[in-house]
Amino acid sequence: MPKFVYDFTEGNKDLKDLLGGKGANLAEMTNLGLPVPPGFTITAEACRHYLEHGTLPDGLAEEVNAHLAALEKAMGKRLGQPDDPLLVSVRSGAKFSMPGMMETVLNVGLNDESVHGLARQAGDERFAWDSYRRLIQMFGKTVLDVDGDLFEDAVEDVKRARGTDDDVDLTADDFKELVDRFKTIVREQAGRDFPTDPREQMDLATEAVFESWNAPRAILYRRQERIPVDLGTAVNICSMVFGNMGMDSGTGVAFTRDPASGHQGIYGDYLQNAQGEDVVAGIRNTVPLTELERIDKASYDRLLEIMETLENHYRDMCDIEFTIERGKLWMLQTRVGKRTAAAAFRIACQLLDQGLIDADEAARRVTGDQLAQLMFPRFASRVDGVKKITKGMNASPGAAVGKAVFTSERAVELAEAGEDVILVRRETNPDDLSGMVAAKGVLTSRGGKTSHAAVVARGMGKTCVCGAEELDVDVKAGTFTAPGGVTVREGDVVSIDGTSGDVYLGEVPVEDSPVVRYFEGELSAADGDELVTAVDRVMAHADARAAMAVRANADNPEDAARARRFGAEGIGLCRTEHMFLGDRRQLVEQLILAEGDAERQAALDALEPLQKQDFEGIFAAMDGLPVTIRLIDPPLHEFLPDLTELSVRVALAGEGADPKDRRLLEAVTRLHEQNPMLGLRGVRLGLVIPGLFGMQVRAIAEAAAARKAAGGDPRPEIMIPLVGAVQELEAVRDEARAILDGVKESTGVDVPALVGTMIELPRAALTAGQIAEAAEFFSFGTNDLTQTTWGFSRDDVEAAFFSRYLELGIFGVSPFETLDREGVGRLVRIAAEEGRRARPGIKLGICGEHGGDPDSVHFCHEVGLDYVSCSPFRVPVARLEAGRAAI
Ligand code: PEP
Ligand code: MG
Repeated sequence: MPKFVYDFTEGNKDLKDLLGGKGANLAEMTNLGLPVPPGFTITAEACRHYLEHGTLPDGLAEEVNAHLAALEKAMGKRLGQPDDPLLVSVRSGAKFSMPGMMETVLNVGLNDESVHGLARQAGDERFAWDSYRRLIQMFGKTVLDVDGDLFEDAVEDVKRARGTDDDVDLTADDFKELVDRFKTIVREQAGRDFPTDPREQMDLATEAVFESWNAPRAILYRRQERIPVDLGTAVNICSMVFGNMGMDSGTGVAFTRDPASGHQGIYGDYLQNAQGEDVVAGIRNTVPLTELERIDKASYDRLLEIMETLENHYRDMCDIEFTIERGKLWMLQTRVGKRTAAAAFRIACQLLDQGLIDADEAARRVTGDQLAQLMFPRFASRVDGVKKITKGMNASPGAAVGKAVFTSERAVELAEAGEDVILVRRETNPDDLSGMVAAKGVLTSRGGKTSHAAVVARGMGKTCVCGAEELDVDVKAGTFTAPGGVTVREGDVVSIDGTSGDVYLGEVPVEDSPVVRYFEGELSAADGDELVTAVDRVMAHADARAAMAVRANADNPEDAARARRFGAEGIGLCRTEHMFLGDRRQLVEQLILAEGDAERQAALDALEPLQKQDFEGIFAAMDGLPVTIRLIDPPLHEFLPDLTELSVRVALAGEGADPKDRRLLEAVTRLHEQNPMLGLRGVRLGLVIPGLFGMQVRAIAEAAAARKAAGGDPRPEIMIPLVGAVQELEAVRDEARAILDGVKESTGVDVPALVGTMIELPRAALTAGQIAEAAEFFSFGTNDLTQTTWGFSRDDVEAAFFSRYLELGIFGVSPFETLDREGVGRLVRIAAEEGRRARPGIKLGICGEHGGDPDSVHFCHEVGLDYVSCSPFRVPVARLEAGRAAI
């Protein structure tokens, strides 16, 4: 039978699965010899059993008996002993911290008799009766489901009768009266008496903590934080110490360093004569921790000593909860502290310099997501007259400023007129997409981090604050109100901070992040910015450790150059269809509408020099580095006018319609597809339109030859998209090789070029062995591979129903964002293995959006890809994660 109960002396910090974070760290501190009030932990396994079967596991009661007896022996008093009661707290503590989401019951063990014992022992009747009424209140609310407001109302009543609005003015008699009233409330509301048997109190509190794992707010929190639903919580039974025993007592929180900057120092708050709950409730104002030196020097010195011990032991920044009971310091909790992204980089380097961790560990202590956060633009400094009006959830980072608008139509209208707008909605739905695209940022009053607004905004890289519940949004009136009588009307400027969730009325200036300026080469590690120096050091180590290269997806020289500045080691995907937009659309239209070979050839001849020029620019920007050029991919009708608009125009013109329009309409109708993503695109297009791919290959070859003749070092790689069968690839490859040879002959310049393919269809992955025979490299197009493996239209589904899927937990994150290891990932593995078997040493990369996603980068490392390719802005993130994956 498993062991369900661990004394604090038996556990350690590595047993978080079993003991939860709080229990594991209480045990660790106990074993370090730090002053932790004695106690024991009931495991999360017992909780899981309870939640599954509705009963406590066999043997648990006996184990609890034994541990309680040991605790009573150690403390020299029994739980609830009438003349000198042992009192305990019953606290939740899951593996992952879920602050305030689950329950706690304090002062367990008090009843009508032991309250007198406590009063005598403490020499303080008022304190004892206050403790007793707190127990009934917490127990009533948490264990017996009594509406907490009823207790609060009773307290207010008594205060009113006393003519005060401060708890401090209440006397022992007042608390006695409250105890009576509370008991009546419990009897009336719960249909039973408040249990006076201490052990029954403890057992019922334990079960209530177990049950609080499934409280609605806990479920919501887990969903948002992607904490697995089936972990359960441990329960910590800890002997009570009191911070509310007079002015020589108190309670506080401390950080071993500043969680915002990482700087070492004394950070925290202290509240004299109070319990932890009072700090959280904000009943009285705390004082800075440094004040404790004046209040109680001995405890202060001891606390600093303990903080140093903890930092050295955990080799990380810790946060701490402590209580002082009549001059004696007790540690109630510690954990590795949460920190801002900037502090994470700084602290990692500080600990490295202190010799507490090595460079590998420093890289492990930061994440690509944190680096990405540091790269978003941010608010410079507050300006007079700009007021923070509320705070919502930090759903998608960045800083955005604009005029408030309340409908998508207005957002689009104003954006088209050149205005910056913030779309404000109660919540968004798929109809708001156009408004979200047009807006600089999105603000909603409802919905969590997986709401539609949040998911879609993150997908678009758009700043979003969601669930700002204090706002009352009235779309019809075109206003929203915020606390303090603030009313914002359409057109009023608001600023939203997607990194903190803060919302301001007025314009807060936005500035580039210093980290981006560093990557751009405008700031250097030597300039003295501590954050930049830390990022530089971590990046250098990550680069040194990485097994994979990082390339960029770029289709113009500017993006290529920026990607290179950001550390890209080549281009992994140049989407040539992006080169056919703007003025050139006309030429493509001619190509599509060509009647006969001569007309088509003329159109191709017009396009070829333009393409050659494009490629020369990119080769120059990426001189000496590989450039993978993907031959044209999208459906042709994307280059033609909209079918509906054109039909209407021709119909309205009737007999007088322009013959060119008629021809166009005929072509658009002919090319119209129900499922263009599965239609005439990629290699299919190359095989159907003679000369199109050939023109592109010739332009690539000639551009490379020209660059080389001019002293450059171009390294082209030609990539064929959407291949499903090796026969498709062979046909295009043969044509490409013939053209490359021809250009070599005609120019007299030999530029070696690889010819390879994308693997972006399940059939390609499953027949990768055959395809590798004809391909010198594979690049995984995981956007299409995800689309075709799941059968999810990549352009539609995220907005249509992914938020529902996320709510239902069908997946924790969109498979277009993070590679689905089990399905799509399995295809990637198969293709990589079979590709390598057929062609040892075949170059393997990824160029879908996943190439810049941290988890997916780790997957690519595991599969042994040679490189990942992502958008230029994500290159640093991918570099960092490629390094971390290799550590
Ligand atoms: C892909 O499908 O993953 C890919 C990179 O190609 P595109 O996004 O251009 O379809
Ligand atoms: Mg694709």
